[in-house]
Amino acid sequence: MFNEIVSYSENYKVQGFVVLDEDKSSALLSYFDLESETAVQTVSEEEYRGIIKSFNIDTLDLDIEGKTKSRAELGFLRKALFGNKTIGKCGICGKEYPISFLIAAHIKKRSFSSNEEKLDYRNIVMPMCKFGCDDLFEKGYITVSEGIISVNDKTTTKPLKRYLGHIEGKRCGYWNVNTIKYFDWHRNHHSLSKVR
Ligand SMILES: [Zn+2]
Repeated sequence: MFNEIVSYSENYKVQGFVVLDEDKSSALLSYFDLESETAVQTVSEEEYRGIIKSFNIDTLDLDIEGKTKSRAELGFLRKALFGNKTIGKCGICGKEYPISFLIAAHIKKRSFSSNEEKLDYRNIVMPMCKFGCDDLFEKGYITVSEGIISVNDKTTTKPLKRYLGHIEGKRCGYWNVNTIKYFDWHRNHHSLSKVR
């Protein structure tokens, strides 16, 4: 299986310690889902800039090079948000979790963001938990208006209503003069898609 994944010949025998090149490592990491969310690679701000500018929209995330870049981008964003912390706070519900349960979430959808906006990583990204907040924000069930979390009028169920009830009206600590434009984009984006 190893030979197949790293595209060695079928009969190749691993006989000692070998360092795989980047492509082979990438193939192996993604096949076995070995990407760690806590032990992220160290990426400098300069490298991050290079990555953002070099993304090719047409092949984005599909090839190994794209995956390597995505991993580096994510690594950088997580490092910027969490540093060396192992515990962090969700920016929506305010609860503390091990950072493997927190996402470096784009307030303005990443796919809609310009390079300039992506480079504004101190403001466009915030931590959201995997226990619901990230998905609810991503899908537009919640938005942030004047710094307060508000609930959108969408199809819901009792358990979901209960969850939304816990976060509705909370103050979002990430809403400020630098992030307001991203929150406003998010709110407008979802109020438009609701009408459509
Ligand atoms: Zn949360």
